[in-house]
Amino acid sequence: MDAIQALRGTRDILPGEIEYWQKIEECARNILNRANYQEIRTPIFEQTELFKRGIGEATDVVGKEMYSFNSRSENYSITLRPEGTAGVVRAYIQNSLQAQGGVQRLWYTGAMFRYERPQAGRQRQFHQLGLEVLGSADPRADVEVIAIATDILQTLGLKNLHLDINSIGNTEDRQNYRQALVDYFTPYKDELDADSQERLTRNPLRILDSKDKRTQAIAQDAPSILKYLGAYSQQHFKQVQELLTSLDIAYKINPRLVRGLDYYTHTAFEIISDDLGAQATVCGGGRYDGLVSQLGGAETSAVGWAMGLERLTILLQQLSPLPAPVIDFYVVSKGDEAESQALKIAQKLRQSGFSVELDLSGSGFKKQFARADRSGAIACLIIGEEEAATSSVKLKWMASKEQTAISQTDLLAITNDLRQQIDSHRT
Ligand code: ATP
Ligand code: MG
Repeated sequence: MDAIQALRGTRDILPGEIEYWQKIEECARNILNRANYQEIRTPIFEQTELFKRGIGEATDVVGKEMYSFNSRSENYSITLRPEGTAGVVRAYIQNSLQAQGGVQRLWYTGAMFRYERPQAGRQRQFHQLGLEVLGSADPRADVEVIAIATDILQTLGLKNLHLDINSIGNTEDRQNYRQALVDYFTPYKDELDADSQERLTRNPLRILDSKDKRTQAIAQDAPSILKYLGAYSQQHFKQVQELLTSLDIAYKINPRLVRGLDYYTHTAFEIISDDLGAQATVCGGGRYDGLVSQLGGAETSAVGWAMGLERLTILLQQLSPLPAPVIDFYVVSKGDEAESQALKIAQKLRQSGFSVELDLSGSGFKKQFARADRSGAIACLIIGEEEAATSSVKLKWMASKEQTAISQTDLLAITNDLRQQIDSHRT
């Protein structure tokens, strides 16, 4: 029978790669903890309506990329989440998190789903780590979230990253800008890609976001949104820049960086890598002061970002091989009684805090020793028929090949000493 393959755009993350994921998650968790962000886990599927309202029907994500299906018995459509913010905001409203007062700082990580053309750094099931700050319009919130993103990326040792920022103002600012864009693009209408032609009337801001080369070239000379910002928006953007500078965070203003929906406001930003080829954006975010009310909550200012973990993993893999895992003990044994004693010793040592791999092969000692060598263990414990008969064990240090016999009871009584010896072998 033909073996079944994982679906196009999905992949297995195997040992050898998963360590990079764990490193990223651990690094992010530490930095988020230090800034007092709380983790939130929301469902992987939600009502389709949530994403239509929360991301916007004019976007690629909602228009073309969602995995949607009808619920079996209820009369609504369900969608596998294509991003995290909509679910977090729904949870914020539904659980009255705003009633807890002050600012809510939340983060999440997990799988997201978009129907896309798979390529390096672009999949149909992919993973994001993201955060949201709800309840602050302060430009310091914008800068705090950017600083956390740059801290995570820097702590991971990533290089050749740059931060692009922009302000897309508020709804009023954008009304004027929208008209300027329509005026600018209309004479080029026939040269724009099909999506952009359609956006010309529906959502001209998103033309600036087009991936089409020809459209991008035309958009180069489009009017800048920065000329259309009102006093509040200008002030907010200026403060964001000053605060970034005060933290020594380098940035470039990119007036073509947009989010084309009315509930996105003010700051938009991306962190882009020079080392990734076409799928270069590792982190995207911005302010969305209108989203909470759009989803039925009270007016709430908010700002957040999401990082693509596949892209971060690719960068980390390019950067450095991970050190091979090290375990403390590898236990080899032969013979019924020896094997059952080995199982017990392994268990007791683990309960005392050691990492222990038990050879289960039942093969000859020679083969078991070869595996012990490959395992990266600091020491090997050997139980043969002789040791089993006397309830003892041979302790062999892999590096020096030095070997001693010791009773099993004594071995378990000197765990502090063993710990010290293992640590000294590690360095
Ligand atoms: P892109 O322009 O690359 O399609 P996007 O604007 O659709 O990105 P966002 O919705 O802002 O992306 O998501 C934030 C981050 O999630 C991206 O910067 C990227 O790192 C990652 N990401 C988005 N879509 C995918 C995908 N299909 N596969 C892998 N990572 C993705
Ligand atoms: Mg996309």
